[in-house]
Amino acid sequence: MAIRNLRYQGDPILNKRAKEVKDITPRIRQLIEDLLDTMYDNNGVGLAAPQVGILKRIVVIDIGEGPQVFVNPRIIATDGEQTGDEGCLSVPGKCGTVTRPNYVKAVAFDQEMNEFEIEGTELFARAMCHEFDHLDGHLYTEKVEGELREMTYVSEDDLEDEEA
Ligand code: ZN
Repeated sequence: MAIRNLRYQGDPILNKRAKEVKDITPRIRQLIEDLLDTMYDNNGVGLAAPQVGILKRIVVIDIGEGPQVFVNPRIIATDGEQTGDEGCLSVPGKCGTVTRPNYVKAVAFDQEMNEFEIEGTELFARAMCHEFDHLDGHLYTEKVEGELREMTYVSEDDLEDEEA
């Protein structure tokens, strides 16, 4: 288990385009494990490799239904609209309202480099849009409607209650 250091808004690496992954090397395998560890350690629902300073097209998401790994993801269809609050581990303590598609269909590769197709709605669709944007150097703060707000404080105990 290895927790990597997060990069925060203002770090130029967060504005760069990440590169396609060609092969799943031992280093990439380690990176994927570390991304998952780092996401869970920070109570995040998603994390993209540039957020730990690695410009590779890799994303992990877990909205509470188990981990999903995306290598070289691509959105191939969207539908509808949802407007809601979003936060980011690279923009700590803040949240803001963002409109995203309510349905997203994507293709990506898994950690064995097998291609798969996946669909999601609501939070999962939002998480895919948010995380995949990181791979192109975009933060949700560019899309916020109105002001970026201070996140309401939620204690660890409350989070644990929710998950129980
Ligand atoms: Zn983010």
